[in-house]
Amino acid sequence: MFIVRDSESKLGSFALSVRNDNRVIHYKITVVNHKFKIDTECNNQREFECLYDLLRHYRGDAGGLNLSDPCPKETQKTMGLDKDDWESPREALTLGEKLSVGRFGEVFKGTWLGKTPVAIKTFKEGTMIVNDFLAEANVMKKLRHPKLCQLFAVCTEMEPIYIVMEFMCNGSLLVYLRDGEGRDLKLPELVKIGAQIASGMAYMEFMKFVHCDVAARNVLVGEGNIVKVSDFGLARMIEKTEYTAKKGTVVFPVKWTAPETFMYGRVSTKSDVWSFGVLLTELVTHGCIPYPGMSNKDVMDKIQHGYRMPKMADCPQTLYKLMLKCWEKDPAARHTFQFLCSYLDHCFVSTEPDCLEVEYNLC
Ligand code: ADP
Ligand code: MG
Repeated sequence: MFIVRDSESKLGSFALSVRNDNRVIHYKITVVNHKFKIDTECNNQREFECLYDLLRHYRGDAGGLNLSDPCPKETQKTMGLDKDDWESPREALTLGEKLSVGRFGEVFKGTWLGKTPVAIKTFKEGTMIVNDFLAEANVMKKLRHPKLCQLFAVCTEMEPIYIVMEFMCNGSLLVYLRDGEGRDLKLPELVKIGAQIASGMAYMEFMKFVHCDVAARNVLVGEGNIVKVSDFGLARMIEKTEYTAKKGTVVFPVKWTAPETFMYGRVSTKSDVWSFGVLLTELVTHGCIPYPGMSNKDVMDKIQHGYRMPKMADCPQTLYKLMLKCWEKDPAARHTFQFLCSYLDHCFVSTEPDCLEVEYNLC
């Protein structure tokens, strides 16, 4: 069992305490240039972007630390409309320009305490049940990763209700790829964007959350091609590996949806992997609608009979093979996000269309 805590001796550093039988060993985790590393005598310890990535690496027997399960946390006591630490005074926020009209209401740019730029999702009365709107915030409260859009606060005490989150200056990935600076991105950069999304999704996989709406429209872009997964409106925690949605309760975006979901309502991390495969096609085509020229009904009929989207122009064969692996009929045969993340992160992509060299062999 292990726990990560603030270091008692050095401000800003962390300690990892590992209990094995009745013995507890403490390791220092140093943070240099925003990279995290276990501080041991051995100099060649790997560096990680965030604590979570470090822990993921050392879980199991890698590095000899033998991390198994995190020490259990007390469960959160407040949910939904109950007040909790996330509640912010409305006066701390200033609303600015409207960014978009979302599913539940308008999304604004704003500032928090006069300085920090934020995005504010507002709830338009009468459109939906307020708990459906706040479900998104409730999921976000439990997730923290550099590749997921971060929740900052909620204002739920009065109407209009707000969800306040980190501001991503380049908006949705879909618009960025189609009409923004992302239009000119070449394959190596596009693959790196895919790797970032897979990294955020690998964290969700680890946390046993399913997103249920993985698509370029729900990924946000910040400075310098930094992307983060967003829109947790349909996301939920799953106790087992799979969850079955009740008929008629959720409308799935067909062209991104795995066949077991549109046929039987079965949702799992593996159905997110299917959608991620479709998202890869959006990256390669700079935001073209998947299955061009086909209706949703055609797609559902054909997918069930084994049809898959053909390789798009300029897509290297190896990347297409990776997509096909995401679209395996049997969910268990699809890759994990952990695999997809390291695969895309380590592959060397040349700008030559058919040259994508990888360290891994696709199984
Ligand atoms: P919906 O539930 O309506 O799909 P989204 O979370 O996908 O809501 O947001 C809708 C749009 O609002 C996004 O495509 C983007 O243009 C804008 N938006 C949402 N969140 C942010 C953010 N954190 N930073 C910048 N723009 C955002
Ligand atoms: Mg959305």
